[in-house]
Amino acid sequence: MSENARHPYIGFSSAAIHAGHKTDSSYAHLTPIYASSTYVYDTAEQGMKRFKGEEDGFIYSRWGGPNFSEAEEKIAALEAYQITTDGKPLELKAILHSSGMAAISTLVLGVLKPGDKLLTHYSLYGGTNELFYKILEPLGIEAVIVDLRDLNIAEEYIRKDKTIKMIYLETPANPTIQCVDIAAITTLAKGHGIKVAVDNTFSTPYLQQPFQFDVDFVLHSTTKFLNGHGTAIGGVLIGKDIELMKTRMEKTKRLLGGSSNPFDAFLLTQGMKTLEIRMERHCSNAERVAVFLNNHPMVTKVNYPGLASHKDHDVASKQMRHPGPMMSFELKGGLEEGKKFINNLKMCTRAVSLGTCDTLVSHPASMTHYGVPEVDRIKFGITNGLIRMSVGIENVEDIIRDLDQALS
Ligand SMILES: *Cc1c(COP(=O)(O)O)cnc(C)c1O
Repeated sequence: MSENARHPYIGFSSAAIHAGHKTDSSYAHLTPIYASSTYVYDTAEQGMKRFKGEEDGFIYSRWGGPNFSEAEEKIAALEAYQITTDGKPLELKAILHSSGMAAISTLVLGVLKPGDKLLTHYSLYGGTNELFYKILEPLGIEAVIVDLRDLNIAEEYIRKDKTIKMIYLETPANPTIQCVDIAAITTLAKGHGIKVAVDNTFSTPYLQQPFQFDVDFVLHSTTKFLNGHGTAIGGVLIGKDIELMKTRMEKTKRLLGGSSNPFDAFLLTQGMKTLEIRMERHCSNAERVAVFLNNHPMVTKVNYPGLASHKDHDVASKQMRHPGPMMSFELKGGLEEGKKFINNLKMCTRAVSLGTCDTLVSHPASMTHYGVPEVDRIKFGITNGLIRMSVGIENVEDIIRDLDQALS
């Protein structure tokens, strides 16, 4: 049997559409929304067996349910898509959460303990940065923030500080679109007992599969491109150590309580089915928009890894299928011109978040990264004039026309 033949699907969309689905007991085409907080047993003995894990079956919706399982198995299939390890298709376990932040909380609180350190880099999602400072630090877990694009710095920290137990990457990072070399960092971490986790929200498994580079965990805010339509907040934590995921990580999710709900899981499941065709369109639009902005006299800087001039162009090209739908840029005149530009938009949407069908434009310094201290913000490259854009799947001519009129 060829390597490929071992994998359940040849195509990514086939996996996105079919993986995780189980025939419904009433033969409904789509898994119905199981709006039920608890699940019943035929007998006391059956209940006991389910609690002990001796029999499969649902118990209580904070722990799991059919809509959660379908979404979880689908995401796991996509992150593992066509990856082979020890001659077998890679097996992953995903745990669905109520939000991306809940998934990150389960990850860090499930893995780290007081005295441990987490090594991470400049420019992370604003909420992640605040979680590290405001929740982890008082618990005695320090986040060391350095520029991990410099592999010498990464190696130095890994070698000298034995209390570093996790490396946390976000690539491309929000909102500077900096990219970190996942394979190089994972190689450095090997043999030091350090777990590597990647926030893959900006890329989705269609553009980038960190498990190819042997990371331990991948997480997503499913709110973004995975859901794809802006209909529900959600998150997921995925791991390759199935035993660890089923025990410690599952327990952490259950006890911290950041569980998903059946309706949001249903919406996520439907959204993921079109991930490939949406991402193709998001990305081809973004490439055109980036070139337009880069050539515009009002624009002083465009952060987009698809441009050959971008510092991380080579890293992005190596680990991503396309440079992605996300970019940020600065205007001549800084903040004042930025505000004018945002207010002039007629079609593109003024909103934070990303990954929806429409193009979203936001101002990180006053919105998503308002909670990050200004000195840090500037150091991370989040200047007062920076504008972030999630390029949508409208017709690109209309996106460019709107940007052009708003800039003039
Ligand atoms: C939105 C986002 C998060 C947080 O996810 P929520 O679903 O809002 O809790 C984390 N990381 C990145 C990169 C994000 O864009």
